[in-house]
Amino acid sequence: MSGRLTSFDIAGARDLLDAGETSSIELTEAYLKAMEAGRDLNAFITEVPEAALERARTSDERRAQGETLGPLDGIPIAVKDLFCTEGVPTTAASHILDGFVPTYESTVTAKLWGAGAVMLGKTNLDEFAMGSANVTSYYGPVKNPWTLDDGKDRVPGGSSGGSAAAVAAHMAAAAIGTDTGGSIRQPGSFCGIVGAKPTYGRCSRWGIVAFASSLDQAGPMTRTVRDSTIMLNAMAGHDPRDSTSADLAVPDFEAALTGEVKGLKVGIPKEYRVDGMDAEIEGLWSQGAEWLKTAGAEVVDISLPHTRYALPAYYIVAPAEASSNLARYDGVRYGLRVEADDLIKMYEETRGRGFGAEVRRRVLIGTYVLSAGYYDAYYIKAQKIRTLIRRDFSSAFEDVDVILAPATPFAAFAIGEKMDDPVQMYLNDVFTVPASLAGLPAMSVPAGLSAEGLPLGLQLIAKAFDEETMFRAAGVVEEAAGFDAAPALRVGGRS
Ligand code: GLN
Repeated sequence: MSGRLTSFDIAGARDLLDAGETSSIELTEAYLKAMEAGRDLNAFITEVPEAALERARTSDERRAQGETLGPLDGIPIAVKDLFCTEGVPTTAASHILDGFVPTYESTVTAKLWGAGAVMLGKTNLDEFAMGSANVTSYYGPVKNPWTLDDGKDRVPGGSSGGSAAAVAAHMAAAAIGTDTGGSIRQPGSFCGIVGAKPTYGRCSRWGIVAFASSLDQAGPMTRTVRDSTIMLNAMAGHDPRDSTSADLAVPDFEAALTGEVKGLKVGIPKEYRVDGMDAEIEGLWSQGAEWLKTAGAEVVDISLPHTRYALPAYYIVAPAEASSNLARYDGVRYGLRVEADDLIKMYEETRGRGFGAEVRRRVLIGTYVLSAGYYDAYYIKAQKIRTLIRRDFSSAFEDVDVILAPATPFAAFAIGEKMDDPVQMYLNDVFTVPASLAGLPAMSVPAGLSAEGLPLGLQLIAKAFDEETMFRAAGVVEEAAGFDAAPALRVGGRS
């Protein structure tokens, strides 16, 4: 039974629970078994089996009283280890947070538990969410459950690689991640699952370990677009504790999945046709446009002229904010302390040993671009570019309702590749950072397989706070793609 139970998505499991055909305890036990079977993937940093079973038990009790809290009640999910969870270690995959056990719960996770969801554990990620391959984690790389016959392990993408691998391998019904420059969408694409980054401000950032505060957003990582809407409904909403969270009503996202796109105007940004673009990616993109056209949408070419500056601008703004946010890890307030003869040496030793190479690189870049001599030349310039990028999108959205683009420039690569040159790694984000800089909702949907047999995603970008149109179009792409391939390492059983 356990193999079969893990094959249900949220919507399917909700129906089983409602029909009394299973219990949250049974579901949770099945996932805990799958997590054990899949430990080799290294998707989880911390597992919380006892707490999970306890939450499942209370959910079953509620249900027995006829008092369910909604569609997530009793559903086992995984949480990126960047969300602070009360009483459960939160590492951000960094040595510097050794021993840190938050005394508070992030708003987004609190909302999920309030909706009855069951936490299975905390998932692995790139250190402080800095990376695109989940290879910078202090806890070691995550393996993508998708494999080929060449015997090489592939990256799951990053930084939410553990969450993506857990969902793809059926070690959780769904998961949450965060996306600063692509960390939900890119691993979603690499692992063949749905990854949605809502509008900046849609979900509270309170209690999420900060990377780049003007970009960070929480979002769902799920098997289907419908599950994505169910999760976001529970996660979203205004929070007085985050001054950048939007005081707007949260629509019923699931109701937006009408399957109807007649008359919808879909923009194809010509600048996303980057130099040396893989023919496979280009083919999939045209296929996606065809699918939407066949469903009755109108597909038009648009221009986002400043796209080519998005990546360099992002890699100035994000490290600048990171260098400031990470100043708090000083060996006094949180986690690791490396003792030394005096205070300054203690700071240096703690930060030098506590942060990994990529984090140190970002702190150095960030500090440099914010320094008095270079602030105008780099940081201010990047902010100006950010404004131009935002304006590009605003004017494009005067003509179209949604934008279709690739999610990633290539499929998952082998662990160890692209590690010698950080710029090669940064190129992963070429299609995801523009929407991040503009604060727009964007999501990736599994759309096909590469010739080698690895998943590829398509990306939908919508106007600020118009997740409904994004989901509606994504639902049509999902339906047309009919993506039903499964990774070889689906530990929870195939069906
Ligand atoms: N890959 C990007 C980076 O390394 C994005 C990371 C993210 O979205 N958290 O910064």
